[in-house]
Amino acid sequence: MAAVAPLHTRARPPEWGEWLSVYPEPGQTFAQYLASHPVVPDAKRRVLYVQPLGPFTAVQRDVVAATAEFLQSAFALPVTVREALPLSLVPRAARRKLPWTDEQIQTDFVRREILRPHLPADAVAMIAFTAQDLWPGSNSRMNYVFGDASLRDRVGVWSLHRLSDQSDRKTNNLLLLRTLKIASHETAHMLSLLHCTQYECDMAGSNGLYETDHHPLAFCPECMAKLCWATRQDPRDYYRHLAAFCRSHGLTKEADFYGASLAAILKERSP
Ligand SMILES: [Zn+2]
Ligand SMILES: [Zn+2]
Repeated sequence: MAAVAPLHTRARPPEWGEWLSVYPEPGQTFAQYLASHPVVPDAKRRVLYVQPLGPFTAVQRDVVAATAEFLQSAFALPVTVREALPLSLVPRAARRKLPWTDEQIQTDFVRREILRPHLPADAVAMIAFTAQDLWPGSNSRMNYVFGDASLRDRVGVWSLHRLSDQSDRKTNNLLLLRTLKIASHETAHMLSLLHCTQYECDMAGSNGLYETDHHPLAFCPECMAKLCWATRQDPRDYYRHLAAFCRSHGLTKEADFYGASLAAILKERSP
């Protein structure tokens, strides 16, 4: 990872309203991650399940399919997309509507009552996608969340609701990029990675779309080390696969970055 470190930008101090100004967190080194007995895939549990929840537009369905493909490359695990579940599984008590939001569903309920009891035996994690707006639970100060994943229970849920104006075709790439960022962030949480405080990194906390857009899709060297250790993959394969994915989905800047990362490692390895 030392070979790619020069390509990454160190985190700057948080500005007012940004995640770290609201939730000061210490971060997590690679050594601390190893010592935390993280959730990792093994021979019995190595499928990532994607669980659609409720209705989607055609554009959103395409984004969920592309995201499943991305997760398969990024985590080097088989991904299974399950049959969609109806929103009627979420009772009135786990829904709310604030004056300034659309109807929201509670992530606690989705994780505890919908995902956790149906976690397949071979699942390393199960991720629900929904187009509904989300909020975390009765004890939270948050008005909404993009996604919410458990560090220990191997389940998470996230929403496409706030990620784009669906009517604008031009924003589809932005919808995909934001969804990939949030999906890989939340999936890494399910492998027990904590938030990153060291670099501009997909694993940094985000307090809103402005911050999500500012963070790169890429994992920093520290978070990459954790991810590659947890999933037993060679970073060269990771960069190669993600560069190809991003190139084929029109994410040119991201494809170039993964390509440069691969080149940096190959250069270091050559005599
Ligand atoms: Zn997070
Ligand atoms: Zn990081």
